[in-house]
Amino acid sequence: MRKKHIYIIACGGTIAGKAASAEDLTGYKAGEATIEELLAAVPEITQYADVKGEQFCNIDSSNMSESLWIALAARVQNAADDDKINGIVITHGTDSLEETAYFLHLTVHTSKPIVLVGSMRPATAVSADGPLNLLEAVQAAVDPALGKVGVVIIMNGVIHSARFVEKTDTTHVDTFKSRQMGCLGFMQDGQPHIYQAPLRRHTDSSQLYCTGKEKLPPVAIIYAYVGMSPSLIQAAAIHAEGLILAGLGHGQMPDDIWEAVQQVERQGCVVVRASRTLGGIVSAVPKYASLLCADTLTPQKAKILLQLALLQTHDIEKIRYLFQEY
Ligand code: ASP
Repeated sequence: MRKKHIYIIACGGTIAGKAASAEDLTGYKAGEATIEELLAAVPEITQYADVKGEQFCNIDSSNMSESLWIALAARVQNAADDDKINGIVITHGTDSLEETAYFLHLTVHTSKPIVLVGSMRPATAVSADGPLNLLEAVQAAVDPALGKVGVVIIMNGVIHSARFVEKTDTTHVDTFKSRQMGCLGFMQDGQPHIYQAPLRRHTDSSQLYCTGKEKLPPVAIIYAYVGMSPSLIQAAAIHAEGLILAGLGHGQMPDDIWEAVQQVERQGCVVVRASRTLGGIVSAVPKYASLLCADTLTPQKAKILLQLALLQTHDIEKIRYLFQEY
């Protein structure tokens, strides 16, 4: 059977990280090895696919930016629209991996597999996890069935939806979890095994776009805590068109913060209630009826959805609808 063509877009991260010694697992520099070096470390890949790669950037993903996201989405769309390419793999640092994955999940329109992958140990480490993760990402990307579930992250043998996945541990290899929603499946015997699919809109059913845009509307995230100052809300709203409030419990906030929130709403800032808890739904309650709700999105993913929504509309009811659809 003819081998599938997989296009690899390399962005850096620990998977491309190098340290001075093989036992150094934290003091390394991310984004050092090139795509050619990454591929040379896993010659087995060529048994599964014809791969071609490009170095999109080579950074620690804490330096990922919104302008790079817009350029990356355009690059991925371009590759996805190429008839000769069957699937796309993106190598990326793990710190902001879930954000880049969700951005692409909403803005790239395709039914071809898109897999994001990284590693927790640098390429130079004893038992580096990057080579196996990269091999499994390619093994998964050749399966057209993966294109139906939207953008995925594959790490440590587990397939996660970009909608649900979070990095949950600072350094452990088993850091990516889909918590209450569960993973989509597993890699086993060189193949993806998929058991469920996300029902919210994504990739080819998404109607969100960043095409042709130079910037995303600025949206800030504020984390709520006992003793927080209302001046944080006022300061954030000076520059932000939108605000995600990672509230206490079910998106609650102290009364003086609620006062400040209503004030910035009157100035035109769109405010979304999210939660600093790590599970559950934030839903509408009478007290905060004017605010939008993040549903099950983490604050950092609610920020992305609000930015893309604000590119399309400032109508609060339309944005409320988008938070129910995506
Ligand atoms: N700081 C690294 C990065 O996000 C961490 C990693 O890739 O695991 O680029």
